[in-house]
Amino acid sequence: MKLWAKIAIGLVAGTSTGLILGENVSFLKPVGDVFLNAIKMLIVPLVFSSLVVGVTSLKDPRKLGRVGFKAFVAYLFTTVFAISIGLAFGHVLKPGAGMHLSPSETLAAPTQQSVVDTFVNIIPSNPLQALASGQILQIIMFALLFGISLVLIGEKAKPVSDFFEAIAEAMYKLTDMVMSLAPYGVFALMAWVGGSYGLAILLPLGKVIISVYLACVLHILVVYSLMLFVGGRLNPVRFFYGIKEALALSFSTSSSAATLPVSIREVQENLGVSKGVASFVLPLGATINMDGTAIYQGVTALFVAQAFGVDLSFAQMVTIVLTATLASIGTAGIPGAGLIMLSLILSSVGLPMEGLALVAGIDRILDMVRTSVNVTGDCMVATLVAKSEGELDLDVYATKSVS
Ligand code: ASP
Repeated sequence: MKLWAKIAIGLVAGTSTGLILGENVSFLKPVGDVFLNAIKMLIVPLVFSSLVVGVTSLKDPRKLGRVGFKAFVAYLFTTVFAISIGLAFGHVLKPGAGMHLSPSETLAAPTQQSVVDTFVNIIPSNPLQALASGQILQIIMFALLFGISLVLIGEKAKPVSDFFEAIAEAMYKLTDMVMSLAPYGVFALMAWVGGSYGLAILLPLGKVIISVYLACVLHILVVYSLMLFVGGRLNPVRFFYGIKEALALSFSTSSSAATLPVSIREVQENLGVSKGVASFVLPLGATINMDGTAIYQGVTALFVAQAFGVDLSFAQMVTIVLTATLASIGTAGIPGAGLIMLSLILSSVGLPMEGLALVAGIDRILDMVRTSVNVTGDCMVATLVAKSEGELDLDVYATKSVS
């Protein structure tokens, strides 16, 4: 049986068990806590290694410099848009309003920082301390600078790049292992949620799903279409038609990485993107560009804040935008990676980790749509960059994609 099917069963069975047994299910809480701890265990090494690998995959700085820069800027730009759309939908649709949950653990409330402080503190004065204490923005910044330095020193960096590549691989494997516990973790977490809160709490999860799907559809239809049309004078309908297989695959696998072979083929065959641009910009995007994930994080962070009655300040919103944008660079293109990153967004503004338990149960449903957005964003940027570099075959774009 597929993992997502098991998780879905865990979700339904856990919720029903919780609703039937009520408070008595508290004995299952430790099982859920083991799962949450296992997820948290992944964050620091996973973020650091996959980010370094993302940057070093730029390789030859001269050849790739310009294309890489354009793609990178476009990726960051669309992600900032995406997280803002997510926050806006979370704010307007208020999926967590009226839930009145109270966190069982008291998190150290982050000291209120001004926007200026938030920026200043991104530079870690001691990177090892940042790693040890899980200061994720600082870790991301250091990984980015470290990766760039590796690229700049060229051949000499090889042992270190290989080392981090192996670590990243191992962390992906470990993520798989942790995710294989997800059905049981989700069962326990949902039983606990169902038992302690009852149906009144579970219904709003439907609102989260609707909010995330609406925000994703809007982002694809409006932001991507406009960028293609205004930025590249390209017909968006042909674009979407050209990547239809990649869309279907990303939706069913929930993995940008698994979709990569198909998206690389489709943008070349159906849209006329050159091989060079496709095979460089798409893998980069699958590693660092996660617009759908950013939308999901915006909506769910606000959902958790509303559910636990936390008012987020403007500076905290800015922290969410910054963390989600930078975190999307370090999110692996594998199923469930966004959920792990959500724990990081929540902790960056001191929101209770139990929020994860609420979202974990419906994560696969949200993962499908956010991965489709991630992949569409990668293909859109590859097409635009190709157009601007004269690497797009307009005849193919105009004809092939509608055939
Ligand atoms: N599954 C997503 C992807 O592969 C990442 C995520 O979990 O948000 O793009």
